[in-house]
Amino acid sequence: MYYVPDGTLKCGYYECPKCKEKFLDVSVKEIIPCPYCEDETDYEIGPDEDLNNLQSDAKLIQVLEGEDVEKMDTLLSLAITGGNYDWI
Ligand SMILES: [Zn+2]
Repeated sequence: MYYVPDGTLKCGYYECPKCKEKFLDVSVKEIIPCPYCEDETDYEIGPDEDLNNLQSDAKLIQVLEGEDVEKMDTLLSLAITGGNYDWI
């Protein structure tokens, strides 16, 4: 498992409208802060940039349960690690 711990029975499938990242998270909320955008904006931007942060929130696309959690986790991990070796 890449995004969520082994044995996760329920998780959310999210897409960030800003950076187009798709990922899984153990939380199942309508909107969560995008971890990828947060990484980018961490430096040089103070805590009073909350308005910008609103746009980097990832939206819940689907709630995954049971076997679907592991299937989607594998699928997304492959999409990231497969064929993207240029940066190594
Ligand atoms: Zn993002």
